Amino acid sequence: MSTNSSNTSNRISTFLVMIVLAVLALSIVAIIFGVQAYLIENETVALYLFAIGFLSLGMAVYVLFQTRKRVEKMKIEDPKVMTTVECKKCGTKDVREFERGDFVFKELDKCDKCEENKIITTIYKEVKEKEKPFTI
Ligand SMILES: [Zn+2]
Repeated sequence: MSTNSSNTSNRISTFLVMIVLAVLALSIVAIIFGVQAYLIENETVALYLFAIGFLSLGMAVYVLFQTRKRVEKMKIEDPKVMTTVECKKCGTKDVREFERGDFVFKELDKCDKCEENKIITTIYKEVKEKEKPFTI
């Protein structure tokens, strides 16, 4: 059940890591060119290349750490599956976490207020506000 969302976050992080590695490779290339420019005494070009190289290197490392943090957060905030338990006679409604063996219309123990058996009416995945798609 929780494997779906962690698979998605793994795919996102793999994609981001690929981008970060590309930026990393480009920054190393820039630094190598910078060294070459320095060797042929083109110090202005060398300075620019070093600046670009180290800036993108820093950005890549920063993004990598931010992504790792976010992925860890996503794993912690896995949406919970909730079960709604209702008593049809007196209308008592209870929401609790999903338990193994729960299914809709399953009869549970007796209601606290009346003698009627409580039943499961809905089972749903809790969706958080920030996970809703963007609207204009
Ligand atoms: Zn009841």
